[in-house]
Amino acid sequence: MHSKAIIVGSGIGGLSAAICLRLIGWRVRVLEQATEITEVGAGVQISPNGVKVLEQIGVMPLLDTVLFEPDTIEIRMGISGKKILEIPMKGLAIDRWGAQYIQIHRADLISALTARLSQLQPNAIQTGAKVVSYKHIPCGTEVTKADNTKERANLVIGADGIHSVIRNQMLGPDMARFTGNVAWRALVPLALLGDIAPPPTGCIWAGRKRHAVTTRVRAGSIVNFVGIIEQSDWQKEGWKVEGLKQDALTDFAGWDQRVLNVIKQAETLHKWALFDRKPLPYWHQKHVVLLGDAAHPMLPSMAQGAVQSIEDAYMLAQCLEEAEDDTIPNSSANYFAKRIKRVTRVQQVSAQNLRLFAEFLNTCTNFILCANVACWKVSSRLGSEAK
Ligand SMILES: Cc1cc2nc3c(=O)[nH]c(=O)nc-3n(C[C@H](O)[C@H](O)[C@H](O)COP(=O)(O)OP(=O)(O)OC[C@H]3O[C@@H](n4cnc5c(N)ncnc54)[C@H](O)[C@@H]3O)c2cc1C
Repeated sequence: MHSKAIIVGSGIGGLSAAICLRLIGWRVRVLEQATEITEVGAGVQISPNGVKVLEQIGVMPLLDTVLFEPDTIEIRMGISGKKILEIPMKGLAIDRWGAQYIQIHRADLISALTARLSQLQPNAIQTGAKVVSYKHIPCGTEVTKADNTKERANLVIGADGIHSVIRNQMLGPDMARFTGNVAWRALVPLALLGDIAPPPTGCIWAGRKRHAVTTRVRAGSIVNFVGIIEQSDWQKEGWKVEGLKQDALTDFAGWDQRVLNVIKQAETLHKWALFDRKPLPYWHQKHVVLLGDAAHPMLPSMAQGAVQSIEDAYMLAQCLEEAEDDTIPNSSANYFAKRIKRVTRVQQVSAQNLRLFAEFLNTCTNFILCANVACWKVSSRLGSEAK
């Protein structure tokens, strides 16, 4: 059987889903609203549970020259820089969890996923294709795009992010919740930082009502900075705006010079509002299913949003492997049943971590869960490459 899937959104989740479905023999079509596939200038950490899937689906070889493997994951006090916890990673992650813990530029990950997809099925992605609605048809779904053209498939996968149109239609309009936190983000070439650079680790800098994370991307040549602060309101229309360097310096005034130097040397600093959503009662309706941030947006304090979307993609493909056109809804229900408990737990711990990092870490227990989530086992294998 060669079923067809339409995947709405070409983020990390959507592209992973397209690859996973292609590998079980489906034809795929990715509809992306943006006119070109670009990514924000930011880094992303992929823990071993995500790397295992990327290995299985043939993406890791395309990341070899651009990934960075941190020596450790550590927690330091934001002001004094004093180290209070360290978990060894480089070399040991493979022994303990069966795969590397990596840091990567989001654009590099997106290019690798796109390249892998085009090895499996050239021209699978259509850009400038904004989906506005869907309609159930016998044994499938029809989507309507903003230009009023329509396309049909046996399954539509809503991988269209936190403000998902597909989620909205499936579960009714509901605004994502502003969490009262905003994130500063910047990328700075290591060469600009001289001797005052954050360590080559995944470093969480903890402070009162704020924390920062520094990582390295592009084979270690760029420092990635995320600084999260509590802020009671968010008035801008877009959810990402360029911020003023002076505001970022004020937010982290008095902090370790290695953090401040990154802010000072940043050419551009972006500010993002952080949203989340309560766990949804279901992610599937007939021949439509949700995945990634569209299904379960989460705070970044466990570095798992993208990783969970990769896990979703893998699990969805596993559930669909034996499906016939008329049993696809059952497979989607099975996928939801297999994923909801784990993803809800990760959402909860991400929210707890945010509070812990911003309250001087009375206990590190939950942080350690962050590393332990990597224990997820890729239990069964995808079929061989799609014909
Ligand atoms: C500050 C910060 C740091 C983070 N760090 C990490 C980390 O270290 N590790 C980690 O695992 N996660 C991290 N995350 C979370 C991660 O970024 C997200 O969970 C992940 O990118 C979600 O991927 P997605 O594919 O589900 O959605 P998205 O990346 O939002 O992609 C959705 C895609 O759908 C497209 N789209 C939207 N609507 C439509 C439509 N109607 N029609 C067609 N296309 C549409 C969009 O243009 C976009 O390309 C972080 C998040 C933040 C904010």
